Amino acid sequence: KAKDSGRNQAVYFSKVLDTEIKQKVRLEHKLKHALSENELSVYLQPQYNATAKKFFWAEALIRWIDKEDGFIPPDKFIGLAEETGLIHEIGLFVLREVCAFISKNEAYLTDLGIEGVAVNLSARQFFAKGFLDEIKQVLVEFSVRPEQLEFELTESMVMENTQHAIEIMHQLRDLGIRLSIDDFGTGYSSLAYLKRFPIHSVKIDRSFIRDIPDDQHDVEIASAIIAMAQKLGLEIIAEGVETQLQSDFLHEQGCSFMQGYFYAKPMPFQNVLELSHSESEQKSEA
Ligand code: C2E
Ligand code: MG
Ligand code: MG
Ligand code: MG
Repeated sequence: KAKDSGRNQAVYFSKVLDTEIKQKVRLEHKLKHALSENELSVYLQPQYNATAKKFFWAEALIRWIDKEDGFIPPDKFIGLAEETGLIHEIGLFVLREVCAFISKNEAYLTDLGIEGVAVNLSARQFFAKGFLDEIKQVLVEFSVRPEQLEFELTESMVMENTQHAIEIMHQLRDLGIRLSIDDFGTGYSSLAYLKRFPIHSVKIDRSFIRDIPDDQHDVEIASAIIAMAQKLGLEIIAEGVETQLQSDFLHEQGCSFMQGYFYAKPMPFQNVLELSHSESEQKSEA
């Protein structure tokens, strides 16, 4: 009997595995197709400066709307794209879209106060051999200034091979591109390292913002991260700000830069251009 149930379990697990592999293969196939058929797009989420009371920067976020499955969130396919190497093509696509947009709308963006766009990088892109040259080429092709670009890195990415990561970070920094640490607080980077990274800013992970101001623990963590960033001379931006109370709390703690649904959701490029000054000023009064 015991043997039977063992066998049944094995059959069960092999079926689960089989389904998982099939789903993965299917998704990979669809993703390749989406890339070649131009079904991927890039959205921008404007970031708000609560002291100056205006948007000042934006983050690029990939979007995939599939004909059959509808919206497929990046968390569902970025990992797969990393595993399969498709991330190189996706990353280049995102960067080119962003640079084309900046280049075409430079005057308008300046008028809005949006100084540049942050792009998420994956480990595989960041450590790739030709990465730096590729970036330089794209900047030249679209005549975008490096100061108009930021790369968001994660702690796990730079802790993977810290020495090498710091070298690449310096090369990007020397070009003039800004660097930030995304999802800060969820990884393992020690304070000692943070000081050695040539970064411009840290982004407090959404998970610490969500339950502010009710959760005393998160209130303490967010305050500590803000204080630490200030001591290290780093800019700090909060992710996932959804309420006035969260915004007020962060501002009081000395964090002026915020990103979240309370200020703006990720939106197509065109909608960013339609943001008016009055809109951002109204919001701050609300
Ligand atoms: P992330 O870089 O931490 O991006 C912020 C995520 O938080 C985005 O999710 C954004 O839509 C979401 N968000 C922003 N404000 C709020 C808010 O107020 N409330 C809530 N609940 N969510 C908010 P999204 O677009 O689903 O992206 C998920 C992750 O996928 C990103 O996290 C990033 O790690 C990755 N990703 C997105 N685009 C790219 C890309 O072009 N390249 C790479 N390598 N990764 C990307
Ligand atoms: Mg990010
Ligand atoms: Mg993040
Ligand atoms: Mg993330």
